Amino acid sequence: MSAESKNGKSYLDERFEIDDSFSRFDQKNDIFNRAIWDDTVDPKHFFKSYDIANYKPKKSKGFDHWDYAFRNASWHLTDYVGELHFQKTGKVEGFTDTYTSTTPGSPNKIKDSSAEYNTQRIKQAAKMFGAGMVGMCKLDKRWVYRTNYNRLSGESQALEFPESMTMAIVLVVPMDYKLSKTFPSALSGASTGLGYSTSLSSAITLAQFITNLGYEALASLNDTALSIPMAIEAGLGEYGRNGLLITPKYGPNVRIAKVFTDLPLIADRPREFGVQKFCNQCNRCAKGCPVKAIPYGPPQKEPPNFSSLSGIKKWTVNAEKCFKFWVGMNSDCAICIRVCPYNKDYSKWYHRLGIKLSNSPLRKVLLWLDDKLGFGKRHPPQYWWNQTN
Ligand code: SF4
Ligand code: SF4
Repeated sequence: MSAESKNGKSYLDERFEIDDSFSRFDQKNDIFNRAIWDDTVDPKHFFKSYDIANYKPKKSKGFDHWDYAFRNASWHLTDYVGELHFQKTGKVEGFTDTYTSTTPGSPNKIKDSSAEYNTQRIKQAAKMFGAGMVGMCKLDKRWVYRTNYNRLSGESQALEFPESMTMAIVLVVPMDYKLSKTFPSALSGASTGLGYSTSLSSAITLAQFITNLGYEALASLNDTALSIPMAIEAGLGEYGRNGLLITPKYGPNVRIAKVFTDLPLIADRPREFGVQKFCNQCNRCAKGCPVKAIPYGPPQKEPPNFSSLSGIKKWTVNAEKCFKFWVGMNSDCAICIRVCPYNKDYSKWYHRLGIKLSNSPLRKVLLWLDDKLGFGKRHPPQYWWNQTN
């Protein structure tokens, strides 16, 4: 699939009908940042519960001391590295700002290399560093946040993005399939936490590798730029009704990291495998969302609130409703990942066959079968704890 159409528009311009009212996102309006400055978004004990001293156990399974201890441990590395400089700078690396943990690399650029050669080696290295899928795209500044938010000072300022960084390497990191089957619970929050810690380790290590080759590299998670459009451009998946990247290898059960660089690389091409058509017939995430934050019907241009982009036609999750549910539960929810028919263990041949059939007229039968076999059902948290290895 070409990254550019005949009229010179990009794949994303055409696919999402991006118009002139589109503007780059202000990081301040991200729902997690709004929880800091906007009185209408009350985080209550949500963030505090990530410090084990403040967790509040619940009677329901998956929310006891073991579960919170496990979840918070899974987040430890991400929180620790991310907040190393917070008290001095107000930066939360990986969430408001790129990582600063790389050390100075080689003063000399690697010799006699080509963009093709670099691309092959970077993909090989990124997989070794923990990524399940890797793709490249040219950096489209529209996905870079317009402004950067400082959580300590409460100030926003223009996001200064180095002009030299012309490419993004996008890393898809799988989350644990069995843990994600227990969403929502404090226990399942460990699937998210581990996804982030592997993402940060992969991205920082890859950035260090590139600086060791004599080029510039910035490791990034949710900070600085929107990951999903870049992942789509890099050929790693399609966009789903649940507002997530759906990948052909892990479905939506992934986290995304990226490394921005000036290393010459070959961009990948967007790749479709039938997700949009499947989502048109499947509303399982919309039905499964306990607070009806996921839309039914066709994609729309108008977002439900200012925590999402406008001027782009897509399914948009209502971040206010979604976050309120997380706050009530004191843990993150990903029911919309668990129930998605694309959420499968693709090491099994029959699921690999299933994803091929999902892009055929058989998709309706497949959807019916998936329902009958109870694939989207929640596994009890004790099922995960008690499994024998
Ligand atoms: S995370 Fe949970 S609350 Fe949020 S959109 Fe998905 S299903 Fe709904
Ligand atoms: S649950 Fe169904 S509608 Fe929702 S993202 Fe997955 S395939 Fe699309």
